[in-house]
Amino acid sequence: MWRTLVTTVFYRACPLCRRPATGEFCRDCQRQMAATQLARPWRFWQGELPLAAWGRYQDALKRALGALKYQGRPELARPLGHYLGDVWLTGGHGLTQTPAVAPIPLHPAKLKRRGYNQAELLARHLCRYVGLPLYPDLLVRRTDTQAQHCLSARERAANLATAFALNPDVGYRRRPILLVDDIYTTGATARAAQHTLQQAGWPVVGVLVVATGR
Ligand SMILES: [Zn+2]
Repeated sequence: MWRTLVTTVFYRACPLCRRPATGEFCRDCQRQMAATQLARPWRFWQGELPLAAWGRYQDALKRALGALKYQGRPELARPLGHYLGDVWLTGGHGLTQTPAVAPIPLHPAKLKRRGYNQAELLARHLCRYVGLPLYPDLLVRRTDTQAQHCLSARERAANLATAFALNPDVGYRRRPILLVDDIYTTGATARAAQHTLQQAGWPVVGVLVVATGR
């Protein structure tokens, strides 16, 4: 009883393995997460849609993102959002104007099933950590781009072109936009969001993700 109480008071449970943690994760998970970290997070910050990423989509980082998305563990968004903040604070973006952060939205049906949008939670923790303005509902999702593998190339392109829309109900001050998502794989989703924003006159400076498969 006393031991339980002491543990409760002095340690948080590691959000990955539930062992006592003095930092965001326990020492073991911390070490495993660090092994996936990219040495050069701004390496792909160039071209039409610049990309910055904290780590590689593998091992402990892949498990953490899987738990965040599929195992109902929204508390993982805090340490992972702070990873995004750590990347941002290294300043490799070279921007002179402060962007606003827009998370990639989930389709409403998926949001209802999951209960939260992991990209929005990550964006919230990032913004709280580094002081960037957050535009959480600038974009809305009209189609689910994840279910695309069963479509033909033409259907996929048509689907992506209409995947996102600008939310007509928000009156955000116009700023350059930094997209935030959990994972970057093919980049199709982020490019579709960029396309929608730029068509509406909102410049997109790039996309910041926790993990990249690139
Ligand atoms: Zn752990």
